[in-house]
Amino acid sequence: MKLMRVGPPGAERPVVLTERGAVDVSSAVEDFDSAFLAGDGIQRLRGQLDDLPVIDIENLRIGPPLRRPGHVLCIGLNYTEHARESGQGIPAEPIVFSKAPNTVVGPNDTLLIPPGSVRTDWEVELAVVIGKTARYLQDEQSALDVIAGYAISNDVSERDYQLERGGQWIKGKSCETFNPFGPWLVTADEVPDPQQLSMRLSVNGQVRQDGATDDMIFGVAHLVWYLSQFMVLDPGDIINTGTPKGVGLGLAPPVFLKAGDVVDVSIDGLGMQRQVCEDGRP
Ligand code: ZN
Repeated sequence: MKLMRVGPPGAERPVVLTERGAVDVSSAVEDFDSAFLAGDGIQRLRGQLDDLPVIDIENLRIGPPLRRPGHVLCIGLNYTEHARESGQGIPAEPIVFSKAPNTVVGPNDTLLIPPGSVRTDWEVELAVVIGKTARYLQDEQSALDVIAGYAISNDVSERDYQLERGGQWIKGKSCETFNPFGPWLVTADEVPDPQQLSMRLSVNGQVRQDGATDDMIFGVAHLVWYLSQFMVLDPGDIINTGTPKGVGLGLAPPVFLKAGDVVDVSIDGLGMQRQVCEDGRP
């Protein structure tokens, strides 16, 4: 299933894309959120879709397909060529950091450049959405069983805040609107192999990232298993699994986002995003 939320920010309604069209499921579920996933909402909804109405969503804003996640975890330097372009070695274990959950916005929402920023950068990533509580998972196979589905994340990054201002990366990852997410949460049954997905990102029509998830250093199952050894993963948590080469920081000379730029992001089977950048000054 492809889960979506459409409507104004904070007032989105849940819909499911089907062969009939966009089915409005707001009479059957409150929202797509951690409670929905924890209550086995995906399975329960499957049997109800035929009885629910189709609506026209063509002119509606697309929100993030999941209401406010509890945790947005990220994996750094998880593609060999990206680790190289970042001037870093290949990590021996996954590099884990997080970003503020309120960075998660709709896939086509305006991307706000922080006031004064000159090094705002892009990162297309496969996002994993956790569907069941996971703690101390035994192995990678059991890790796959706790995944609800997949979506696109743009893990937007301010490189000065991240790398030049000391301390941890979270400062450069948590600015307002820095995690465009969606358009869909595609349930895991529709993504038979998360390590076989092509991904692209272009800026103003110029392709900057053109990679595939089979180049990950640590695959999805390993990452979920690994994280569960250090923390409890809850339904609705998001894991951004890292970005392939081609970020602005790695270009010669480097290129960064500015007001007016248009960013297009896509992953096979997970849809497309488009963000227009604006000055975020209040
Ligand atoms: Zn990233």
